[in-house]
Amino acid sequence: MAHTYDPTNIFARILRGEIPNKTVMESAHTLAFHDINPAAATHLLVIPKGPYVTYDHFAAEASAEEIVDFHRTLAALCASLGLTPGAGYRVITNAGEHGMQEVPHFHMHLIAGRVLGRLVERE
Ligand code: AMP
Repeated sequence: MAHTYDPTNIFARILRGEIPNKTVMESAHTLAFHDINPAAATHLLVIPKGPYVTYDHFAAEASAEEIVDFHRTLAALCASLGLTPGAGYRVITNAGEHGMQEVPHFHMHLIAGRVLGRLVERE
């Protein structure tokens, strides 16, 4: 099934400048900003500027330039925040209902600042 992008989602509105955000880093195709409800001392969201719903949508349909820009921005953030080499971090992306994705614009959570516990709760 094809991905349908909802241009009214909150990150699309941030990208259009309709609502404010706390930007940490911006490049040609990528924006990184503070999560409004941080789960740790460092909790940033890294998003492509293009209209992609999920990780797989982005990986399948974004241009090579967008994909490289996204990952290089994330790496630059890790370096600028001193997370690596260092105490480390976690990168998470949620997709769809089972992934419990709230905002249907692909994003990576970059979380750091404490030991983050196990990745997924066991049933
Ligand atoms: P997810 O569940 O992976 O879709 O995560 C969505 C994230 O977006 C959550 O961690 C929210 O706290 C965050 N969020 C929602 N609205 C905003 C906003 N206006 N600015 C920054 N972060 C937001």
